[in-house]
Amino acid sequence: MLGYLPDVREISAFEAAREGAWRSLHPEVAGRPYRQCRNYAVGNVCNWMVPADAGQPLCSACELTPTIPNLNAPNSRYLWYRLEPAKRRFLYTLAALDCRSHRARRTRSTACRSNFSPRSTASR
Ligand SMILES: [Zn+2]
Repeated sequence: MLGYLPDVREISAFEAAREGAWRSLHPEVAGRPYRQCRNYAVGNVCNWMVPADAGQPLCSACELTPTIPNLNAPNSRYLWYRLEPAKRRFLYTLAALDCRSHRARRTRSTACRSNFSPRSTASR
C-alpha cells in the first residue's frame, strides 16, 4: 500500500502491521506504525497517513474540512473527491515553501478551515 507521510512530505510504501495499522518502509520513519486517514480508509478521498497512536481519525489536511457534503446527494461524493486533492496539493505547497501557519495550528484557529458547501451538506 502507498500513503503520504505529512511529517516527511513524501509518499511511502507500507506493509501490513497489526490490524488497521501499517508499517512505513520510508527510511526516515522506517518501522513506525501508521494508519490510514479515515477519509482514506472509508471514503477513498485522501491518501494521507496518521501515526497509529494519534488520537484523531483524520489527517491534518482532512481536519481542516469540518463540513463535508451530504454523500447521499447526487454528485456530492464526486465533488468531494475532486476537492480534496486540490486542498492537499495546496497544503503540500505551503509546507514545501515552509509557509505553514504554525500559530493557526497551535491555536486551532479556523483561518485555514474550509467547509465544503454545495446545496446540501452534513456536519461531522
Ligand atoms: Zn485525510
